[in-house]
Amino acid sequence: MKNPKRYLVTSALPYANGPLHLGHIAGAYLPADIYVRYLKLKGEDVAFICGSDEHGVPITLRARKEGVSPQDIVDKYHEMIKNSFAELGIAFDIYHRTSDPLHHETASAFFKEMNEKGEFIEKEEEQFFDEQEQQFLADRYIIGTCPKCGFENAYGDQCEKCGTSLSPKELINPKSTLSGNPPILKTTKHWYLDLEKYQHEWLEKWIDSHKSDWKANVYGQCKSWLNSGLQPRAVTRDLDWGVPVPLPNSEGKVLYVWFDAPIGYISATKAWAKENGKNWKDYWQSDDSRLIHFIGKDNIVFHCLIFPAMLKAHGDYILPDNVPANEFLNLEGEKLSTSRNWAVWIHEYLKRQRFYMEGFPDPQ
Ligand SMILES: [Zn+2]
Repeated sequence: MKNPKRYLVTSALPYANGPLHLGHIAGAYLPADIYVRYLKLKGEDVAFICGSDEHGVPITLRARKEGVSPQDIVDKYHEMIKNSFAELGIAFDIYHRTSDPLHHETASAFFKEMNEKGEFIEKEEEQFFDEQEQQFLADRYIIGTCPKCGFENAYGDQCEKCGTSLSPKELINPKSTLSGNPPILKTTKHWYLDLEKYQHEWLEKWIDSHKSDWKANVYGQCKSWLNSGLQPRAVTRDLDWGVPVPLPNSEGKVLYVWFDAPIGYISATKAWAKENGKNWKDYWQSDDSRLIHFIGKDNIVFHCLIFPAMLKAHGDYILPDNVPANEFLNLEGEKLSTSRNWAVWIHEYLKRQRFYMEGFPDPQ
C-alpha cells in the first residue's frame, strides 16, 4: 500500500506457559521493534501491539501438574514475559493479555457476529469423555499405546517417541489422565470455520496477489497448505479454561485458543486506544491503515490463512498487508525449544547482563 495514514504492527502473542527465549526475540520481536522505531522516527502514526496468549490446554495441564489454577500459571508468566520485554527495551505501545475481561468481551462479540452471519458449520461428533470427572477430554488429556511404535504413553494428538501425529481414537487402550479410567465416547457439538469454502471464494486469489511482496518462505508455506486443500476447522473446544462460547446451551465449551488468540491483537488495540484518546477502529477497520504481523514461522498458517479468513468473514476488518515470518534460530545447530529446554532464556540472560553492567562477578 502506498502512503498509508497509519500503521498497526503486531508481534506474535507469547504463550504464557514458560519464559521467553532468544529464538522468540530474534523471530518476532526485535525485527518488529526495529521497524516500529524506524516508522516513528519518520513521524508515522503507529500502534505497536502485543500481549500474552493465556488460554489453551498446555496451560491447564501445567496448572494441574503444579496443583495451582490456570490463572496462577498465566499470572506468573505474563509478569515474567512483560518484564523481560521491558528490560530488553522492546517498546510495545501496549502489552496486554487474553485473560483480561476486555478480551473476553471482544472475542465473544467477534464469535457472535460470525455466528449471526451464518459463517460457522455446526457439527455433532463423538468425543472421549471421562465419566468420573464428568468432562470431555482434550487430546492431550488422553494417553494410550501408539499404534505405530507400541509406546505406551502416547498422547491423543501425538506420540512423543516416534513423532507420529495421532487422533485419540487411534490409541490402543486409551486412558484419561484425569481419573486413569478408560474414557467413553459421547456426542458433543462444535462450531467449524469453513476454510474450504473461503479457499475457493477468495483466499487462494488473495494469497496469489502477494506472490511478489511477501517473503518467499511465507508465500511458499501458504501455497503448500492451499495445494493440499483447506478443511473446515473447529473453533470451539470442550474445556473449562478460555472464552466461553457465548450461545445458549453451550456450557462447558470455550473458543479454541487459536480462534481467540489473534483477536487478542484487537482487544489490545482497544485497551491502548482507550488509554491514549485514539479510536481503535481507525487502525483495524479503515482502508488507509496498514496491518503488519511479525511472527515466527510456526505461526504462518494462523496469520496468513485462518485469521484473515476470520477477519473477512466477520466483515468489518482490513486484512494484513504483510506477514514477515522468520525462520527458527538455532543453538549449536539445533532448533531452540521451550519443551526440550534447549534455549538461551531471556530472564537469565538479563540477570547476567545486570551483573556485568554493575561490575559484579559472573553469577555462575
Ligand atoms: Zn509411536
